[in-house]
Amino acid sequence: MGEKMPVLFVGHGSPMNIVSDNRFTRSLAAWGKRLPRPRAILSISAHWLTDGTFVGCMEKPRTIHDFYGFPRELYTKDYPCSGAPDEAEFAAGLVRKAPVGCRLDWGLDHGTWSVLLHLFPRADIPVFQLSLDYTFNDWNPKPLRHHYELAKELAPLRDRGVLIIGSGNIVHNLGIIDFENVDAEPLDWALEFDEEVKTALISRNDTSLVGYEELASSALAVPTLDHYLPLIYSIALREQGEPLTFTHEGFQHASISMRCFQIG
Ligand code: ZN
Repeated sequence: MGEKMPVLFVGHGSPMNIVSDNRFTRSLAAWGKRLPRPRAILSISAHWLTDGTFVGCMEKPRTIHDFYGFPRELYTKDYPCSGAPDEAEFAAGLVRKAPVGCRLDWGLDHGTWSVLLHLFPRADIPVFQLSLDYTFNDWNPKPLRHHYELAKELAPLRDRGVLIIGSGNIVHNLGIIDFENVDAEPLDWALEFDEEVKTALISRNDTSLVGYEELASSALAVPTLDHYLPLIYSIALREQGEPLTFTHEGFQHASISMRCFQIG
């Protein structure tokens, strides 16, 4: 089946990164050149939230422009890769934790294609997505432990040459943000939470990452779980003794952590 694939976590930030040339987008381009060539890519994005868990089984996933009020140029960009329906069905079959259905009505949301555009600009690798079950019980999404355990069941994909990418942001608070200035100084609480997560990643403390509410400034850093959940999928796939390397650190708009890392 070829080379075992690493697992990535990408902080994707604003859709403006689709067309921006900045330190973050350049780090993605350089990263893509260092990565082994995967047979397919599985993206777990903050922007596909569903009632239940699904994979995208399209032959040709459409590029979804799921953002509003941005410059026209962003809506003319697309990512014309093929899908990976066979791989998606295989992935669905691996999961015992929850039933995983096949969906044909999605595509690639910007959490996926805004980063792939820089990582793999040729769009010549098949891509499929897995959704995040955002079912609410008493106003809380499914417990993080559920996502962590489900993610672990995807591990065999790595040996089949599938590159798994979690795409979210470790700190993501759009309520307290400097919209005008992408390079605004990060806020103290944002730095604090990002640092706590960094420490937990280095010391392989998954328990503390799953129980993130106990970390300093968590309420401000993670006001909703959507952008934090992809991180849980990435860390769950880290095997014993596997290295974790930060490929990018920093903030955009004062309250969005752009931290990215590679496992393996
Ligand atoms: Zn996002």
